[in-house]
Amino acid sequence: MKRIPNSEREWKKKLTPEQYSILREKGTEPAFTGRYYKNKERGVYMCAGCGTELFDSGTKFDSGTGWPSFDMPKNLENIELKKDFSYGMIRTEVLCRKCGGHLGHLFNDGPTPTGQRYCINSCSLEFRKSNHSLE
Ligand code: FE
Repeated sequence: MKRIPNSEREWKKKLTPEQYSILREKGTEPAFTGRYYKNKERGVYMCAGCGTELFDSGTKFDSGTGWPSFDMPKNLENIELKKDFSYGMIRTEVLCRKCGGHLGHLFNDGPTPTGQRYCINSCSLEFRKSNHSLE
């Protein structure tokens, strides 16, 4: 687990400008531009801010939205859900519970049995490929 910065100044130093605007300022990366929306490799997606494990590749699906989409978190305890009333919409914001970083939003229109669609910014994630020999 990486050390968590304790001021916005420190976050600014640690993160890229894109990561900072999304994780700390609740921004959204443009659709179809992130590095993970097409990623189909097996592994774990961690928080780009603090390294907490957030999503498994096995729960990722192609939503067609241009953002990485998952039908459940790896561990519900690592995720925080908050009502978000910005931009005249009522949405559910998804945050990393450990560092408070903004990840994306949760929708209930998913195509898989869970019915959930975690719509997550690539910028908020760090992918770790799984090592088959260790499984
Ligand atoms: Fe985090």
